[in-house]
Amino acid sequence: MKQLMACLTFDFDGMSGLVARGLTSPTPVSRGEFGAVALPRILDMLKRYDIKSSFFIPGVIVHTYPQLCERIVAEGHEVGNHGWSHIPTGNLSAAEEEDELLRGTEALFKFTGKKPVGYRSPSWDLSPNTVDILLRNGFLYESSMMAHDHEPYRVRQGDVVELGKPMVFGKETDLIEMPISWSLDDFPHFEFLRLPNSVSPGLQNASGVLENWLNDFEYMRRTCDWGVLTYTCHPYVIGRGHRMLMLESLIEGLIEKGANFITMEGAVHAWLARETQNV
Ligand SMILES: [Zn+2]
Repeated sequence: MKQLMACLTFDFDGMSGLVARGLTSPTPVSRGEFGAVALPRILDMLKRYDIKSSFFIPGVIVHTYPQLCERIVAEGHEVGNHGWSHIPTGNLSAAEEEDELLRGTEALFKFTGKKPVGYRSPSWDLSPNTVDILLRNGFLYESSMMAHDHEPYRVRQGDVVELGKPMVFGKETDLIEMPISWSLDDFPHFEFLRLPNSVSPGLQNASGVLENWLNDFEYMRRTCDWGVLTYTCHPYVIGRGHRMLMLESLIEGLIEKGANFITMEGAVHAWLARETQNV
């Protein structure tokens, strides 16, 4: 029997991602602030369809919006670590990166009463130290890499990557990867972002994005008996009216295709159970 799952994940970044890029003036701050308007809309929709999701929240946002974070947990959703201040790990020393991770966990524990088992790096950028730090701190899974589309896998440690030489793959670890993709992330499709050295155009028509997102699930359905596809949304992005309609159509379309909605933690345990049975 086929077992096809979908993880709807939400990175509740608020203004932290913009602030971490140096955008601290009132307009970018207000742009992130819209996430707090959008979040209850998303929670209401998830409740209507009885879907449990995984939310990744930086510590500074947990402290900015404690009641919203408490509501996320009270409604049965998983909450994962997304660092403290949304600074990409590549910009941090190993000690700073571990401090960000631990402060993020502390904030989540304080307001949700739960220690996160999953981690998603800010801006999907792992440093060479991240895997060691996550293993040392007992994380079950991480979700920032792209080596598969719809199957979790074990994260490696000790790869040797040198220009002009074949890859030397390191050893597999106990840390499980829940792979992601920019194509299944709302941000690059929808957000116009002007930075000193780049412009991301975004602002795409939601119907085209919806078609892509459903077709990735359709491909999995046609080619696999077991799989889990992860979608990544940000409340301040997906929360605009036409995109909320798209999210609703995505949920309806996935239900029609036989998707089971599951949290990231649930999907990792399902994969581990399958690995144990050696199916
Ligand atoms: Zn983020």
